[in-house]
Amino acid sequence: MAGAGALLALGAGDAPRAAVRTRAKILIIGAGAAGLAAANRLVHRLEGAEITLLDKRREHLYQPGFTLVAAGIKPRDYVLSTTREYLSSGLNLIEESAAEIDPVAKTVTTDAGRRLSYDFLIVATGLELHYEGIEGMDVSRIGQNGMGSIYAGPAQAEATWRAMSQFADRGGIGVFHRPATEMKCAGAPLKYAFLTEDALSRRGNRSRAELIYHAHNRALFSVPIVAEKVRMLYQQRGIPVNHEHVLTRIDLDRRIATFRTPQGEREQPYDFINVVPPMRAPAVVRNSPLAWRTGPWRAEGWAEVDRGTLRHVVFPEVFCVGDIAGVPKGKTAASVKWQVPVAVDHLVASIEGRSSAERYEGYTSCPLITRVGRALLVEFDYQDNLTPSFPGVIAPLEELWITWMMKVVGLKPTYLAMLRGRA
Ligand SMILES: Cc1cc2nc3c(=O)[nH]c(=O)nc-3n(C[C@H](O)[C@H](O)[C@H](O)COP(=O)(O)OP(=O)(O)OC[C@H]3O[C@@H](n4cnc5c(N)ncnc54)[C@H](O)[C@@H]3O)c2cc1C
Repeated sequence: MAGAGALLALGAGDAPRAAVRTRAKILIIGAGAAGLAAANRLVHRLEGAEITLLDKRREHLYQPGFTLVAAGIKPRDYVLSTTREYLSSGLNLIEESAAEIDPVAKTVTTDAGRRLSYDFLIVATGLELHYEGIEGMDVSRIGQNGMGSIYAGPAQAEATWRAMSQFADRGGIGVFHRPATEMKCAGAPLKYAFLTEDALSRRGNRSRAELIYHAHNRALFSVPIVAEKVRMLYQQRGIPVNHEHVLTRIDLDRRIATFRTPQGEREQPYDFINVVPPMRAPAVVRNSPLAWRTGPWRAEGWAEVDRGTLRHVVFPEVFCVGDIAGVPKGKTAASVKWQVPVAVDHLVASIEGRSSAERYEGYTSCPLITRVGRALLVEFDYQDNLTPSFPGVIAPLEELWITWMMKVVGLKPTYLAMLRGRA
């Protein structure tokens, strides 16, 4: 299946091949989607290696389900499990955080003061939600007084659903936006505006509400053809768009959001808002020699990797996969599915003393929900080409029931297979 890379499309996994014997020490920072997928693939490819995962968080969060929790479609526990459920035998897990990476000495120091050495390092820390970058924001108040934020975690996604549901009963002004930084799942803020509009319509309250989307730049989405499709749908659904609006401040008591615009600050009253925080690399990477040294990703601290191999450009024994990778596209679980096998193959090739021809072409995807029961399957690569996994079956820019079913039924089992290194 060409490009069966949609996270939705269950791949066949690697063809069976003889495990490579080695005594290499491989350290993986982060046991989320990318870290677990990498560890479980390596365990199948190597024999005798010492593979250690480092992550303090014991819960595993199925983040693509957050939108469904925040829309009242799935319960909170739909997105919750534990990291240990996905560990193949032969993997070590240290429940501590990486506090410092020294890629010259090839060591990582944990927050408990433990110093770990490695032959190969995989950095899979994900990203940091920088809520502090919005003045007046208080994560503990998500769900109160009309303020929601689906990114912060399962409890906050659930609290956002309660706030959105109240808004759908009463109407008023609903405000949606995205940050000016790189972000994970850039479709999620768009989806949530659609879902709120749908909730209002289903309750017969659409005429009582005004919905507005504030885009951070001149486009609604990074891929022009998708941006145009969303613009047309927003127009049909009565969601006007303001461009070059970036949320800088929020007054949670008075319900006023302040946006930076080319014309200066603009105050936007709201009855409901979905706050999407700025995002950046966690400090352990941002403040390390692994971060981009120049260019647009320097300030946010993403890891400076080759976009085709995910190998660090200065430290060849370091690979960075998932949201932390400083590459032009990605930051979805679907990208993880395509990045990890490439990085793993290059790592194994280095152990074997051969070179690998595997390349990551920037594949990413997003089932963009447009209403309950309908979604667009948007898949693209570094060149903004659409890369449909099911040509002739699923038209990429059509609102389809089958794409909706993939999101609510098919995506999670495929994601879990990916964690186990089988997809
Ligand atoms: C609301 C929402 C909707 C989404 N929808 C979709 C979707 O529809 N489709 C899709 O494909 N993707 C979607 N995503 C994106 C997807 O979930 C992420 O891109 C994916 O989880 C990235 O995997 P990761 O391993 O890089 O990061 P994560 O899965 O976030 O894992 C990072 C791990 O690193 C650990 N860590 C962090 N710092 C350290 C440290 N210093 N030391 C040790 N460990 C550390 C964390 O504890 C965490 O366990 C969505 C995300 C959100 C939030």
